[in-house]
Amino acid sequence: MITSFSWVFGRSMLFCMSFFVLNSSCLHGAALNIVTTTTMITDTVKQIGGDRVSVEGLMGPGVDPHLYKPAASDVLKLSRAKLVFYNGLLLEGKMSDLLDRLNKQGKAVFAVTDNIAHSKLLKPENIQGHWDPHIWGDPRLWTECVETITTILIKHDPSGEQTYQANRDAYIKRLDKLMSWGMEQINGIAPEKRVLVTSHDAFNYFGNAFGLQVVGVQGISTVAEAPLADIIHIVDFIKSRNVPAVFVESSVSPATIKRISEDSGTKIGGELFSDALGTTGEIESYKGMKFDLGTYEGWVGHNIATISKALATPQTTP
Ligand SMILES: [Zn+2]
Repeated sequence: MITSFSWVFGRSMLFCMSFFVLNSSCLHGAALNIVTTTTMITDTVKQIGGDRVSVEGLMGPGVDPHLYKPAASDVLKLSRAKLVFYNGLLLEGKMSDLLDRLNKQGKAVFAVTDNIAHSKLLKPENIQGHWDPHIWGDPRLWTECVETITTILIKHDPSGEQTYQANRDAYIKRLDKLMSWGMEQINGIAPEKRVLVTSHDAFNYFGNAFGLQVVGVQGISTVAEAPLADIIHIVDFIKSRNVPAVFVESSVSPATIKRISEDSGTKIGGELFSDALGTTGEIESYKGMKFDLGTYEGWVGHNIATISKALATPQTTP
């Protein structure tokens, strides 16, 4: 009886030990429990944190962060998290009070955009006292958010410093490459056709980064609908500039853009990702670049590919 007990006990111990050896995150204790808001932040924290972190994103693909209201289960997830990352600049408009409250209660809550110099932020013309929150549109500014995330991860998990730094370096290298590739594609569009007409003003940083003139129908938030006068004005603009295509967004209703397309006689060039990533595991490739649509790299890659296909004049052989 005693022998059989020791045998079972010994086997169980052996099993536990091999489990801990196989599961690398167990080597340095439990993974850091992190809750994030948008899909862009969720992916980026995973890229830098690797297996040292366990990341739970509150918003899924196609979810509009301007309108997202936290559910009771979200409050529970946030209260259990060791660290919380959100975008800030009032992107998560309906979560601001909750995030503020958590912060005041001493929870480690961080806006990834916090360290970006105000001189680099854009101010929308039509809203006073409000920065444009769509920072991820410019990979160079997103790189600054990557640095902020890395610094905070190291502060909360100092023994992971080397891992976080190595992951950050590799990630920034990939983002640099993506930026150059994106510039190459947009430079292939005739200068007068580098115009991006979309549902809402989510692409101002993106336009700055890649040299596109941006016309958003709905302003920087999706809360208010576009007035009729604006729609007529945009239709006139498209006709006068002979804009080859307009674009719908994955997280915003396509109704207004469809109407603009019909009224102006301009085609819909495709669906862009604006405030959310696509589905993880869906792979797209274009001009030497391959990307997973559930990643931030996929966000940039898919948008560049869609815009470039719709706006570039097809090459004709003489
Ligand atoms: Zn937006």
